[in-house]
Amino acid sequence: MKAHWITRRQAIKTALLTTATVAVASQFPEMNVPQAAPADGKSGEARTGPFTLPTLPYAYDALEPHVDTQTMQIHHDKHHAAYVQHLNKAVADYPDLAKKSVEDLMRNVDSIPETIHTAVRNHGGGHANHSLFWQMMSKSGGGQPKSELAMAIDKAFGSYSKFQETFTKTATTVFGSGWAWLSLTSKKELLIESTSNQDSPIMKGNTPLLGIDVWEHAYYLKHQNRRADYIATFYNIINWDFVSERYRTQHHRLV
Ligand code: MN
Repeated sequence: MKAHWITRRQAIKTALLTTATVAVASQFPEMNVPQAAPADGKSGEARTGPFTLPTLPYAYDALEPHVDTQTMQIHHDKHHAAYVQHLNKAVADYPDLAKKSVEDLMRNVDSIPETIHTAVRNHGGGHANHSLFWQMMSKSGGGQPKSELAMAIDKAFGSYSKFQETFTKTATTVFGSGWAWLSLTSKKELLIESTSNQDSPIMKGNTPLLGIDVWEHAYYLKHQNRRADYIATFYNIINWDFVSERYRTQHHRLV
């Protein structure tokens, strides 16, 4: 009989290390950043697909102390990048779909072929949601909604603070991963809603105006399990100029 390749002591050590790795991974499931395909082109996967990762409109540390630098780096460069890559991979064999905007894909997600439906829903939603999300925040954000949106919020919810109360509650009570939104319905009404995973309000015919990502990857490094702290601090960085202008143009588009 051949000698054992590893001693019992080594085997136990290896087993313990493996267990420890699994334990960490299952404790922070969302920290398992999806692997992006290598950028060297060797993978042969949709590396230059029709969808591209937008540049972050500010530096990684711009939203400190509300959103920490490392979270911004991982969130944009890894998570959002992976949504884009997986979306490109999903539509690689569907040239008609590859020509559409991500909003069009989400608007008509029910008509996406079954084999790629889930991939387009998850990764297309991830791409659409995050592309908006970066713009909805700003270093010079905070304060209150502007002009027409301010009036519409008062009319729909009674006051800005009533809006804030409902938006906070909605974001707090999303079970698991998802988003809370201020949306504009096709009837031009303001609505606070939540979506699961990477579903977009666009899928229901609504236009997202403001959204908060409440996936743990958006806040866990800084706030750990305290989602409420993350939501409270988010109000300091809302880019109301962007959101208010988006309301104005979308509202007029629907006239
Ligand atoms: Mn996210």
